[in-house]
Amino acid sequence: MISVKGLTKKYVTGKTDFFALSGVDMEIGDGEFVAITGKSGSGKSTLLNIIGTLDEPTSGVVTVDGEDISKFRPKAVAAYRNKTVGFVFQAFYLEPSYTVYDNVELPLILAGKTGDNGDKINAALNMVGLGHKSAEKARTLSGGEQQRVAIARAIVNDPRYILADEPCGNLDTTNSDNVMKILADLHAQGKTVIMVTHDAEDAAKASRIVTMSDGKIVKDEKTA
Ligand code: ADP
Ligand code: MG
Repeated sequence: MISVKGLTKKYVTGKTDFFALSGVDMEIGDGEFVAITGKSGSGKSTLLNIIGTLDEPTSGVVTVDGEDISKFRPKAVAAYRNKTVGFVFQAFYLEPSYTVYDNVELPLILAGKTGDNGDKINAALNMVGLGHKSAEKARTLSGGEQQRVAIARAIVNDPRYILADEPCGNLDTTNSDNVMKILADLHAQGKTVIMVTHDAEDAAKASRIVTMSDGKIVKDEKTA
């Protein structure tokens, strides 16, 4: 379980303090599919990045199974980013000149698994329907396909949590639907999915919608 308590993030701009997060409390149980929604600038990415240790709060704590993630030593941080969470970003961030296969293998190599990773990589690529594109260079794929490769890369280490920040933000409707279907399938397989989106239709596909405004949670509801 992820527990967020009293989270704030302050930016000092000139003479004034600006709070990107101003006191966020929430719990995310294992197996949930949570959409974090709200207007641009409401603090969604900041919250997700702090949960993923890509950013640090000004105050407050995030615990995973009771462990304060800010207290992790460097090795534990690396393991957390590599194996506990899998990230998917709006802009995919693939290595364009690498093959699809090599892109998906990267987290395994970073985790020190340099042996034969074929089964894991093929399973991840099949999960996103791209087994047949394994040998293609990432840059030759469409945006929708690139995002699916990014999802394969995020799941190849079998993480507990999928953290997705506007995963459909650069995609057309058809490709968005494909990506949303994959996230729903991962949720059905037992993964905990935390997805930032400003799209109400995508948010409605989650099992819980958390709405942010001005760095605060203003609504938290289960969907049907
Ligand atoms: P969202 O993802 O909901 O669009 P963000 O979490 O990215 O919002 O940002 C929340 C607020 O924090 C925004 O108003 C943004 O401009 C501000 N912010 C983010 N990073 C910085 C920074 N490095 N310096 C100053 N303000 C920032
Ligand atoms: Mg954002």
